[in-house]
Amino acid sequence: MDLGIKGKWAVVCAASKGLGYGCARSLAGEGANLVINARTDAALQEAARKIREETGVEVVAVATDITKEQGRSQVLAAAPQVDILVTNAGGPPPGDFRKFTRDDWIAALDGNMLTPIELIKATVDKMIERKFGRIVNITSSAVKAPIDILGLSNGARSGLTGFIAGLSRTTVSANVTINNLLPGRFLTDRLRSNFAVEAKNKGISVEDAAEAARRSIPAKRFGDEMEFGQYCAWLCSQQAGYVTGQNLLIDGGNYPGTF
Ligand code: NAP
Repeated sequence: MDLGIKGKWAVVCAASKGLGYGCARSLAGEGANLVINARTDAALQEAARKIREETGVEVVAVATDITKEQGRSQVLAAAPQVDILVTNAGGPPPGDFRKFTRDDWIAALDGNMLTPIELIKATVDKMIERKFGRIVNITSSAVKAPIDILGLSNGARSGLTGFIAGLSRTTVSANVTINNLLPGRFLTDRLRSNFAVEAKNKGISVEDAAEAARRSIPAKRFGDEMEFGQYCAWLCSQQAGYVTGQNLLIDGGNYPGTF
């Protein structure tokens, strides 16, 4: 299927590895030019080089913190125009909510709620003018099925989800869709670090923590960043113009509900 996004410009945040990288690589595979971002320059440049080499699209790499206003301005300024926006940032740390400070909460809200909202605010009106826009927010399955030790994530991402539910209905008549993609367990560095915390808390090995998690997933495996990316690329396609305001799980069947 030709997704019809060849030559479009996509901004993919937090994309030197993991889920953001999977989205960037998949969009590039469909011919979209990219602005990608992460904080660590060397890893980001390497990701950009690899994508350019494999797909031949233009890739601009901007090493900066996307949760800071200056970082967002730098990233957006690097794109001739933004047709596709994939918002992403590192997740907040796990922990006991009794130990979270106000600063912890503000950082989580900044990173996982207000950063996507600011990025959307800066780009959505031009998308509406051009009658094409695709916005995908990488959130978490924790929005549907909260994970107790990820209280900061559950809270901040649910705030974003509520906001998007309203906004997405106001932009779709101009062919600008906004959806949230909810990863279950994908074997990235983020997941590996969660296993390390869990193993320490439970007094078990990291391997045992990972193996128990793997077995609990109906698919009996962790997700792969490229299968996440391919779903994202489809949501950014011309064909996906009638899908908006959705919270789409990609979790190997892990969420146990009927709906
Ligand atoms: P990952 O493999 O650790 O990759 C995170 C990426 O984000 C890296 O490129 C990192 O590069 C970049 N990054 C982190 N903080 C940033 C910032 N402030 N500004 C710019 N770039 C930043 O993580 P992942 O598994 O792909 O997770 C992506 C998101 O999905 C996270 O919010 C995570 O909580 C969420 N999620 C993941 C899973 C899963 O199973 N993997 C499940 C549910 C939710 P630098 O460190 O160099 O900046």
